[in-house]
Amino acid sequence: MKKIFLSGCLLFSIHTTLCSQTPASPNIIFFLVDDMGWQDTSVPFWDSITPANRKFHTPNMERLCKAGTKFTNAYAASVCTPSRVSLLTGMNVARHRVSNWTSLKNKAVDGQDSVLEAPDWNVNGISPIPGQERSVYATPLPQLLKAHGYYTIQCGKAHFGAYQTIGAEPLQLGFIKNIGGSAAGHPASYLAEDDFGRVPGRFILQAEMPGLDKYRKGKSFLTEDLTQEAMLAMDTAQQRKQPFFLYMAHYAVHLPYNTDNRFIQRYLDMGLPKPEAAYAALVEGMDQSLGELMDYLDQHHLTQNTIIVFMSDNGGFSHPPRQGGDNTQNYPLRGGKGALYEGGIREPMIVRWEGVTKPGTVNTQYMIMEDFYPTILEWAGIKNYHTVQTIDGRSIIPYLKQPSLRDQQRALIWNYPNDWTGGNLGADNSWLTAIRQGKWKLIYLEKQRRLELYDLEADIYEANDLAARFPEKTKALAKLLTQQLKQRHAQLPLYKGTRKAVPYPDEL
Ligand code: CA
Repeated sequence: MKKIFLSGCLLFSIHTTLCSQTPASPNIIFFLVDDMGWQDTSVPFWDSITPANRKFHTPNMERLCKAGTKFTNAYAASVCTPSRVSLLTGMNVARHRVSNWTSLKNKAVDGQDSVLEAPDWNVNGISPIPGQERSVYATPLPQLLKAHGYYTIQCGKAHFGAYQTIGAEPLQLGFIKNIGGSAAGHPASYLAEDDFGRVPGRFILQAEMPGLDKYRKGKSFLTEDLTQEAMLAMDTAQQRKQPFFLYMAHYAVHLPYNTDNRFIQRYLDMGLPKPEAAYAALVEGMDQSLGELMDYLDQHHLTQNTIIVFMSDNGGFSHPPRQGGDNTQNYPLRGGKGALYEGGIREPMIVRWEGVTKPGTVNTQYMIMEDFYPTILEWAGIKNYHTVQTIDGRSIIPYLKQPSLRDQQRALIWNYPNDWTGGNLGADNSWLTAIRQGKWKLIYLEKQRRLELYDLEADIYEANDLAARFPEKTKALAKLLTQQLKQRHAQLPLYKGTRKAVPYPDEL
């Protein structure tokens, strides 16, 4: 835990101008897509071009890659809220214990299983104040940025906490401006003409979309409206002469796959079935937003002083209405959203940092969502900050400044002592913990009491379980995973009835 206190900045945080910024304080756009898979783009993130790369059309991601660095081993958690809380706290999921997606106050969303049940995880999400039940108390990233003079903009999906908890409200987490964010994890509809899914006489949280009333009943698509509002908010930051942190967290490309008439025809012409064409159009609409934001920066002469990060919050959804059989959509990766196979956690990631990232470069260093917390603070020039939580993330700036630098010793871990689906979508998506170190990955399937070992360099699809062939490596990684889980006070699934935790991976 960092104990060093700010030099008076927090004391005067209401008067943000007192904590004056150097002219070099960069603007930061964190462009986060929802449920976008690693291959749902025309940018190849693997060593060759895949059928998925040929299906999708994302010219602005290509443009961002040409100007910056593509990270091919970037990771997040396997579902929404855990990733988003890791970003806002710098904590690994094992530590913050918001291990599944949040919904209603004090209510767990886990499915029912005959053998295991979820522990008492933090079903209410993040809390910026102590004493909130079933929440992780933390100093949110935007709160530190705001205290240091940043104009902090939440645009799109928030989903940081359960409905009617403090963490559900972005303005309580250090954001100055909130556009469209709430406890909702997806829109009821992307279509303004559908009133974003409002039904007269009924409260539907997912149709509320705070700050977007002027678009209701119009002809636009939610992705467009959020982009327009983001640009207005960046205008405000400039009027206020503040650097901005734009958390551009699109609802796209999460379900529902409403038709975006601007883009769908291309995909229908390719012969895709309607839902898949609508999905591809949703992806292209998201990409268009990225392009419009880059154009805005160019037009306002902000490109030099604005860092852009492109990221997704979990793996691609890999079940109907997506085209194809279950868990085939993220090929060459196995599985999808909810799984700890690569398809559930590996993300498309790009960084453009003018003057630092060399145009068109590729970086293979593995990293994870919580790394953005210290990275963004370092970009902002915020050095001696105090947080109430222990930070697990590590700055990725050394890898940006020295692109050949590699750390193959670092261990990344995932913890999902939960049931995403109630068994409806296969056993791959529940009761899991995993570790990656170097090229090796160990997955512990807790219900099956089985360890699987994969060599990701030779077998990105995770087809060949090497646990029996390399027992010493399996044992070593099981020990390291156990150590890391214990260090972070991680929760494990419980046996029904006894409520005794499953064994640690090194106890099998
Ligand atoms: Ca998501």
